[in-house]
Amino acid sequence: MEPISPALQGTNENDTPASGATRPSVTLAATDSPSSEPAVDTRPVEQILVEQGLLTSKQVDKALRIQSRLEEQKPLAALVVELGWVSRNAIECALKSHRRQLPIEEILLEKGAVTGDELEHAREHARKNPGHTVVQSLIEMNFVAEREYLSACCERYDLPFVEADANLVDRRLLKKASVQYLTRHRILPLTTDDAGQITVLVDDPEQPDLVVEMSRLFGGPVTLALSTRAGIEEALAALAGSRPESGAVPHGSIQYHKIQEDLDTEKTTSIVDHIFLKAIRQGASDIHLEPMASKMRVRFRIDGSLVHVTDYPSAYAGPIISRMKVLAQADVAQHRIHQDGRIYVRDGSEEIDCRASFYVTVFGENCVIRVLRKDQALVGLESLGLPPPVLRTFIDDVVEPTTGIVLVCGPTGSGKTTTLYSTVDRLNDNSRKIITCEDPVEYVIQGITQCSVQNRPGINFVDSLKAIVRQDPDIILIGEVRDAASAEMAIQSALTGHKVLSTFHTEDSVGALVRLLDMGIEAFLLASTITAIMSQRLVRRQCKECKVPYTPTPREVRALSLARAELEGVKLTRGKGCERCLHTGYRGRTGLYELLVLTDDIRDGIIQRLPSHELRTMAAKAPSFVHLQEDGVLKTIQGETTFAEVLDNTPRVQDVRPVRELMEMYG
Ligand SMILES: [Zn+2]
Repeated sequence: MEPISPALQGTNENDTPASGATRPSVTLAATDSPSSEPAVDTRPVEQILVEQGLLTSKQVDKALRIQSRLEEQKPLAALVVELGWVSRNAIECALKSHRRQLPIEEILLEKGAVTGDELEHAREHARKNPGHTVVQSLIEMNFVAEREYLSACCERYDLPFVEADANLVDRRLLKKASVQYLTRHRILPLTTDDAGQITVLVDDPEQPDLVVEMSRLFGGPVTLALSTRAGIEEALAALAGSRPESGAVPHGSIQYHKIQEDLDTEKTTSIVDHIFLKAIRQGASDIHLEPMASKMRVRFRIDGSLVHVTDYPSAYAGPIISRMKVLAQADVAQHRIHQDGRIYVRDGSEEIDCRASFYVTVFGENCVIRVLRKDQALVGLESLGLPPPVLRTFIDDVVEPTTGIVLVCGPTGSGKTTTLYSTVDRLNDNSRKIITCEDPVEYVIQGITQCSVQNRPGINFVDSLKAIVRQDPDIILIGEVRDAASAEMAIQSALTGHKVLSTFHTEDSVGALVRLLDMGIEAFLLASTITAIMSQRLVRRQCKECKVPYTPTPREVRALSLARAELEGVKLTRGKGCERCLHTGYRGRTGLYELLVLTDDIRDGIIQRLPSHELRTMAAKAPSFVHLQEDGVLKTIQGETTFAEVLDNTPRVQDVRPVRELMEMYG
């Protein structure tokens, strides 16, 4: 027996074409899957009645004779009831237990809803149209009406038939799925009984895994009831019109899912909202939901590191993933293909766009949600965590000069874009024209002219830079120096009297000079245009709520080239872990900075193409130059971060200056 009009399939762009032959069998409460039965019982009804002792063989012969003489065809069962040989009730009971093993079309035939000829036609039609079932054919050929089909289904699966009505619906159930979703799949949840059993109205019970899916969606055991398609659609339309507590807040063309704070930990919806709320409040960039053998693990990526947040019993995994799929408008019924979608959530007044990805694993579907916050606030230069002497030098000798190239370096995720924008924001006033060429635009800043070259046919980096110069700018921001061509454009712009700000993907400041030389840029051009190179990293901050005294390990002291004696009298701390920091000991991030302002010595060194270690030695002598690692050691002593974070995130330095000397520098 094949499904008829699978409401859970074929309505979503993520669907794979449903193949009748490979679909799983129907799973319904209290009934066996028809396809698991070795053979279908196609015995005539009279034989069943004889077997059940309701009729004798003689009575059957007589009834058949009478039936053959009737002008209008009448089912044998109806005839024997009219003849008064058996009660209607007794026949119904007998047929009911029998019909639970029959395919729907046989029941329709037995009930007289279709004739033998019609059934034969439908079978022929189904044979000629692969993917069509006999019942589908019967309906399509108008041999059977929807209500007759539903009534046969009610008998076959022992389900109630309910007239759909919006007033019957327990609105709390609507929080678990949007009306749009329900409408798409023609599902009307009705009530939850005292035992927690949820009744759901559908117009087609013969969909694979229907009960399992509904149970996951609504977070409890589900029993089905049947209703007409039109009835369900009308009720849902009525609900869509009056839905104050729906949870979906209209916003332009996007439906934002409003996070409810009144949490009921028993309900899947609440659990999902709770996960979102926690992730947003903790500033997580990603939510990882990972079903495992005996549980589902929930982890957040916070400040660049994965943090284990909680586990849920395996029983929750299905409902939670299903709920995420509903929110992401992914196909709930599909568990065998990787899917993705977008989830729009609203926390108070903040709207957050999330990207959800579902990945099929051996233990079920993994779900990863990237949380994309819109209101990435610009950080002032003073708040970036630049050490005071470095900040002074940066503003006076790097930001203020009206020409020259400023490069911010570091690996991906080191915060260089933030530094670049903070710098631009400081320069942004009515007296200067600032134009950007970015890929993509990451922050929108009032008062500057921004251009994105991302995914724009006909606009490339170098052409944009040529056009920018004709726009008479004072300051040009180039998203990233990525090749010799963009480096040359930056140099040309600087040579013509512009100030150029950009990022460059290298480990440290001297490394940037070396790489530019390796790209084939003329040494004298670099020496005469580059003002400064800032190298940076992001490290996690100690949680302020759970600081405890800390003694560094011998390994840490050795790796940082520190002397034990230097740390005497220095009170180190670290977070021991608390609720606020999700037991990581860290909360938020700060930057480590290494600012190289080119001195005449270094410029000469570049022109002479001195080896990088000599350039490094020169750099270390530049005023207020601090290595990334040194900045990290000082920030650890100040209780900002930890030696572990510094070791994880900065390149090693051989000749570090004594801690006391650095502290004097910092003032
Ligand atoms: Zn803490």
